[in-house]
Amino acid sequence: MTDCVACGAGTLVEFADLGGIPVLCGVHYATRDEAVASPLGRMLLGYCENCAYVRNLGFDPQIMVYDTTMDTNLHHSAAFRGFSTDLVEGLAERHELAGRRILDIGCGQGEFLRELCEHTGATGFGFDPMYAGTPGPDSSGAFFVSGRAPLAEPAQLPDFDFVTSRHWFEHEDDPYAFLTALRERAGDREVRGYIEVPDAGYDLATAGWEVIYPHVSYFDSVALAAIVERAGWHVIAEGTWFSGMFRYIEFSTRPSGPARTGREDVGRPQDAGRLFWPDHTAARDRQLNAVRGFAERHRRELDRWHTTLAALRDSGQRPVLWGAGSRGVQFLTQVDPKVELSAVVDVNPRKWGRFLPVTGHRVDSPETLREIQPGAVVITNPAYTDEIARSLTELGLDAQILTA
Ligand SMILES: [Zn+2]
Repeated sequence: MTDCVACGAGTLVEFADLGGIPVLCGVHYATRDEAVASPLGRMLLGYCENCAYVRNLGFDPQIMVYDTTMDTNLHHSAAFRGFSTDLVEGLAERHELAGRRILDIGCGQGEFLRELCEHTGATGFGFDPMYAGTPGPDSSGAFFVSGRAPLAEPAQLPDFDFVTSRHWFEHEDDPYAFLTALRERAGDREVRGYIEVPDAGYDLATAGWEVIYPHVSYFDSVALAAIVERAGWHVIAEGTWFSGMFRYIEFSTRPSGPARTGREDVGRPQDAGRLFWPDHTAARDRQLNAVRGFAERHRRELDRWHTTLAALRDSGQRPVLWGAGSRGVQFLTQVDPKVELSAVVDVNPRKWGRFLPVTGHRVDSPETLREIQPGAVVITNPAYTDEIARSLTELGLDAQILTA
């Protein structure tokens, strides 16, 4: 039995075994042989009956190694960039970030922190083992380190007024230690933070393409609030955005809420002021239902996609996948292990001509679809439907979009 790291009160119960899945789902390889030899890791999901926290009980931090060759960057998408810009403006205003010191853990290639610093005049410190840019200061006012933040030694963390972490917290083997290290470094000062993760309610109530090896933890509203509060922070705002796929929480060392702005809460970055405070009991029960139905739902979705893709191929539709991110890799591993799709395309030029882990699908530019003339384009992320539909029109293609 494993104790729940979120609430500290429950134990984790196994509920779904996805078997071996790609460990390095954000890596794309130069050759098909290297891609096919990419490691598999066990995905064995367990949940807490007390707070609905979900974790991969099979996670092995020794095989999950991050480096600068990985590209899990979401900033290639215009929809994500637009959302990030709204978020920068919202955070800057709500938390009066002008001139402050911002720590960004899991900063990726630094786009978000750079924009935050440029918008506010704040000083930034970004940490990420996948950061492939030049280490040190840049003209935005941010300083970047290609490596993990020194969470085991809180005294070594840069002094900060605001901490942000977007789509990294769920990768931490010990998310509680992550939050307590930050709380210890904050000391008696007024320090606030913003954490954004994939929403577990969304991920586990759907087919599960976002259940990927690098994601150790899956948080809904209850589990995320529980772990933040247990680590000594006060929750000041929470909710979901980006079509319900992202969950965020804002917190402070002070119990009084965001006194700097007088605002109580926000709904969307561009719509600050909407009061949203979920009923945690109802939220937990909804999440427990999603969790208990997950294994069966996941199996049904796999069956449905095997049937759908076979029918499309048989009728000469030449189905393709658009989007070679982690969701796409998970979809390909589970639904197209024999590489029967006509193509996999992505807008990120760094992936073109390279091969995806385990299955060995090659990634091409969307331009290649002009030649293939697919009748059906599968996407695994509904947030990008409009963007991909526009691109298909620009390519002169009349293909139906199927959302997995
Ligand atoms: Zn728990």
